[in-house]
Amino acid sequence: MTTYLFPPPAVQSLAIRGKAEQFPINRLFFVGRNYHAHAVEMGKPVDKSVERPFYFTKAPQTLVPSGATVPYPPETKNYHFEMELVVAIGKAGYRVKAQDAHTVIYGYAAGLDMTRRDLQLVARDKGRPWDLGKDIEDGSVCSEIVPMEGVVIENGAIALEVNGETKQSSNVDKLIWNIREIIADLSLFYHLQPGDLIYTGTPEGVGAVVPGDRITGRVEGVAEGALQIGPAA
Ligand code: MN
Repeated sequence: MTTYLFPPPAVQSLAIRGKAEQFPINRLFFVGRNYHAHAVEMGKPVDKSVERPFYFTKAPQTLVPSGATVPYPPETKNYHFEMELVVAIGKAGYRVKAQDAHTVIYGYAAGLDMTRRDLQLVARDKGRPWDLGKDIEDGSVCSEIVPMEGVVIENGAIALEVNGETKQSSNVDKLIWNIREIIADLSLFYHLQPGDLIYTGTPEGVGAVVPGDRITGRVEGVAEGALQIGPAA
């Protein structure tokens, strides 16, 4: 039996609606610029006819369940929310054809891709990795996982409020690359595994929060979520 010098990191997991078991987390993938209006507000419009989707990852240890209070993170003055539909992978898949993409889907969730926008934009514009802007402790927020095996979501309102004021309001039918296309493309690069989460991108209206703010959001037909921003760490 393997013994460790110190206790290994805990497995990250999320509650599953209607089940006693937790959903164990493997990897966290994020699609960049997947709604036209958000790509435009970032100053980087997307031409699907000549571009492929792109991705970044965050460590599973950045995951925090919806409803949490998290500290305002260090080294930023522009901490942004991004409301996203999250796909939960339940079966292994490699080079999955778009028409077969539903076979690897376990369910969905509503998530927040929290972002140090100031650091992300510096990294982007200097050609540096996005990690300091994106891979943030307590910065990957996710609701309970809602089992929807084999279901491909094609539409549904997605919305977010800060202190009750609407900031983001769109529909997941506006995804530039839809769920089937994302799974097909991402699985060209990675052997998808049960426990992988794919954050599918955010619509327009992203903005900053400050300590004391309360974020609420939802994806129609999936789940709701909330996040309370606490004092600086
Ligand atoms: Mn995002």
